[in-house]
Amino acid sequence: MDFVTVIYEKGNGIAKITLNRPEVRNAENRQMSREILEAFKLAEEDNEVRVIVLAAAGTSFSSGHDLGSPAAIAEGQKEPVNTTMGRYEHEEERWLKSWLYVRDLDKPTIAAVQGYCIMGGFMLATMCDIIIASEDAKFADMAVRMGGAAVEYFSHPWELGFRKCKEFLFTGDYIDAQEAWRLGMVNRVVPCERLEEETMNLANKIALQKPHALKLAKQAINYTQDLMGFRESLHYLFNIHQLSHAYGALDPSLSVLASRGNKGLKEMLTERDKKFEQTK
Ligand code: ZN
Repeated sequence: MDFVTVIYEKGNGIAKITLNRPEVRNAENRQMSREILEAFKLAEEDNEVRVIVLAAAGTSFSSGHDLGSPAAIAEGQKEPVNTTMGRYEHEEERWLKSWLYVRDLDKPTIAAVQGYCIMGGFMLATMCDIIIASEDAKFADMAVRMGGAAVEYFSHPWELGFRKCKEFLFTGDYIDAQEAWRLGMVNRVVPCERLEEETMNLANKIALQKPHALKLAKQAINYTQDLMGFRESLHYLFNIHQLSHAYGALDPSLSVLASRGNKGLKEMLTERDKKFEQTK
């Protein structure tokens, strides 16, 4: 299959999917969402593949969904995402169902994360079974700063613990690699220049195991998490996310994203915070 926004490689029982829009820190546009899912499907259905690695080209894993390119802004004004149910169904398919599909794959998945891993990027990393972070990795979700509640695939409380997760969302601040490791969100922190090697070493080690044993072990853990409420909470939180979109559309003053016009998000948030500082 010919991919444009990701690179698909295979060897020694390992499929490696590399996000490949480094010029925009791997911001995820529609094509990239589609191709990530297709690449995971390809790896899952290939009997030679035992382990799947999700990596990223360039200095950052992913800056999140592409909200800033002219194409992305134009797409946001078009059907179906400019209606409440249209957006609901679009996002349900593109993120909730797709990333749950990846989370539920029979084969083990490993994310190799460097640099920025923000919002949509956080979703991509956390849908994987194992996360290896380089020392410069930093994680954030600015949904609340943007006037919304959360992202579409919202596993954050499970990743960070409930109390830390609230601080993470309420402030939109970054968590660095060491803190992510301390919280149990990432498995290992490695020097930047060793990220690929350490990830592939681990993938090779896991690939030595029998696929059926890996499948059953993974299912056992995922079912445990599901029995604890993981799956239901994700569906519930997806609806909360949609509520944020709905009120943002009806009353743009409530949503930074809905009222930003053509401004970049970073610029918009910086301006807003400065205004707030001045009125204190
Ligand atoms: Zn959304």
